[in-house]
Amino acid sequence: MALIVQKYGGTSVGDIEKIRTVARRVINSFKQGNQMVVVLSAMAGQTDRLIRLAHELCDQPDPRELDVLMSTGEQVSIALFAMAVKSMGYDASSLLGFQVPIHTDGLYGKARIHEVNTNRIKRELEKGRIVAVAGFQGLDENGDITTLGRGGSDTTAVALAAALNADVCEIFTDVDGVYTTDPNICPKARKLDTISYEEMLEMASLGAKVLEIRSVEFASKFQVPIHVRSTFSEEKGTMVTAETRDMEKVVVSGVTYNKNEARITMKHVPDKPGTASKIFKPVFEAGVIVDMIVQNPSEDGYTDLTFTVPKPDFHRTLKRLRDVAHDIGAERVMGDEDIAKVSIVGLGMRSHAGVAQKMFNALAKENINIMMISTSEIKISCVIEEKYTELAVRTLHTAFGLDSDAQEAD
Ligand code: ADP
Ligand code: ASP
Ligand code: MG
Repeated sequence: MALIVQKYGGTSVGDIEKIRTVARRVINSFKQGNQMVVVLSAMAGQTDRLIRLAHELCDQPDPRELDVLMSTGEQVSIALFAMAVKSMGYDASSLLGFQVPIHTDGLYGKARIHEVNTNRIKRELEKGRIVAVAGFQGLDENGDITTLGRGGSDTTAVALAAALNADVCEIFTDVDGVYTTDPNICPKARKLDTISYEEMLEMASLGAKVLEIRSVEFASKFQVPIHVRSTFSEEKGTMVTAETRDMEKVVVSGVTYNKNEARITMKHVPDKPGTASKIFKPVFEAGVIVDMIVQNPSEDGYTDLTFTVPKPDFHRTLKRLRDVAHDIGAERVMGDEDIAKVSIVGLGMRSHAGVAQKMFNALAKENINIMMISTSEIKISCVIEEKYTELAVRTLHTAFGLDSDAQEAD
């Protein structure tokens, strides 16, 4: 008998018929003698709808109340799922985050899981029930509801799998695995049989939303193997696991894009010790996560500083920095929201030269201008104009030999 944690995303529970399909799938595994813990997302579009409602009411909804609101989507899904299971003659129990409980810090909207208490889930399992847990939500030390950040049901599932010492954590979604790039924008994307935690973490943090970043961090830390697969087929998907030696052979294993960042430039900044600290202090204090930072060489004691921030934080960051620019004697602050970041990821980059050159060449051939570049041991990212995103992704996918037909021809 195995203990299996399964997570079904929004499209997988998008309507009543799909919820029935999920219930049948879960019951099938249960009938084979497995203990089943099922994490569900809100029905497709629900979380967006709830956020829209809040913004219709006010510009900046109170974060505590927004979490109370957003967490309701998952409540609907687990209740309907448990009803579906019961209507098919099996026993199920739905649990909200606070009933488990899943303890988090108090950072509304992006709370981190501190601890999962598994007693209640184990009791339910011992009673022979299928347990349905609401994804994306937890409870802080004041007993208030928190949410884990968009896409956070993946993290709930992996955290439960780690805490329960589950045999496997299966993430069911609307694609049949992790691909070399988003299959919805690149028809030649190829499904990967395996991917390392490290590469998956880079891909997730660079925009591949098939797995949420923190879920991969969690999986890597607690060595939980994740199986990403389709709700709508029986096929094997992609295993996300610890690195194997073979993985190093592939130079570039994936291409990602992120349209959710904006660029800010501060012009003519006095180039002296302490300036960067003064510029970024208010940004960090506002909880804004700065990504790429580029500083030009100093000319006559002045420099330009450019960096990227998440689009939702763009306007408030710009506003704060206009005050800072005035205080430190910089000339002006400019912003640009129409940008995208395209990246290539691969463990093999560690040991191969010329990868960056190949990337720049491929983009140049399509006349795509590179505005910013950043590199790490296993990734290279370029900021480009947003309108070229799809073209850039497909071009890089072909340039690095990732196209499905290219592989078959080998
Ligand atoms: P769920 O609602 O099941 O959590 P998501 O929409 O969060 O599903 O994630 C699945 C989506 O991730 C896919 O529909 C696909 O468009 C996108 N995606 C982006 N990059 C990749 C990739 N490299 N491999 C697979 N899917 C990807
Ligand atoms: N419902 C939440 C979201 O849309 C969490 C999730 O689906 O994973 O972000
Ligand atoms: Mg998701």
